[in-house]
Amino acid sequence: MSGHSHTAPPSDPELRIKALESLLVEKQLIDPAAVDAIIETYETKIGPRNGAKVVARAWVDPDYKARLLADGTKAIAELGFSGVQGEDMMVVENTDEVHNVVVCTLCSCYPWPTLGLPPVWYKAAPYRARVVSDPRVWDSNAELRYLVLPQRPAGTEGWTEEQLAELVSRDAMIGTSVVQAPAAGVAS
Ligand code: FE
Repeated sequence: MSGHSHTAPPSDPELRIKALESLLVEKQLIDPAAVDAIIETYETKIGPRNGAKVVARAWVDPDYKARLLADGTKAIAELGFSGVQGEDMMVVENTDEVHNVVVCTLCSCYPWPTLGLPPVWYKAAPYRARVVSDPRVWDSNAELRYLVLPQRPAGTEGWTEEQLAELVSRDAMIGTSVVQAPAAGVAS
């Protein structure tokens, strides 16, 4: 087990981290811009790009998609993505009838290996409260993390996995957004 407990957001550790960061900056041991860049990379590049590759593979390979929906953890590990906060994964598929949204109502459980660090709004009380008013809710928790398999947009027939992966956003894999159909002329 990761030791991550499913409790209220830790305010004391957050304050300690902030104090520690301030001290390190003050003593010129770290550059705050570099810290921000690392966090930004995890939040918007490394993590979500991994998930996007999983989605694109599922869109072009029906056998992979079947394995992904049957055992998310194992199928995601096939592409090399596994580890802390992603030990137990369930992938839920969007269809014409069902749109899935993922939330952790109690804190901020999130699949790090596929999506990186959770965005600030994912941890915010208003998001966690409002999402629950929707009937299809996946309550992420310390035991199991979720990844939404978005619908492949029309107009992408014949696209490569790499081209498809470029379309897939972090928010689409949380379920707060859909993958937009490409603008005419974008496909090569
Ligand atoms: Fe949580």
